[in-house]
Amino acid sequence: MELLGIQGFERAPSGRASCFLCGGKIERASWRFDYRMKASSKLGDQRRIHVTCVSQLPVATRAADLRALRAFMEAPDVSDDQRALLEAASAELAGGGASASSSCA
Ligand SMILES: [Zn+2]
Repeated sequence: MELLGIQGFERAPSGRASCFLCGGKIERASWRFDYRMKASSKLGDQRRIHVTCVSQLPVATRAADLRALRAFMEAPDVSDDQRALLEAASAELAGGGASASSSCA
């Protein structure tokens, strides 16, 4: 596992966290990524993000993030639904997908 970038893929255990990238709430039981800003083991350096917000992540960790997504997809217990989410996130991150909701420009 990389020290920086996406660290985890899991269902939100509560609806209290908000997305580091868009500031929106991460709904309970929706899928999210854990993202590490700094190479440390402090929980405070870890951020939660929406699966759909990955394209807004810093370019600096992109290669590591793509490797992390691939590793989640190849996990033996991944479901079809999870794999579909991860594939979509991967495409977004690689710049291949249409950015659906980020229309700030
Ligand atoms: Zn978000």
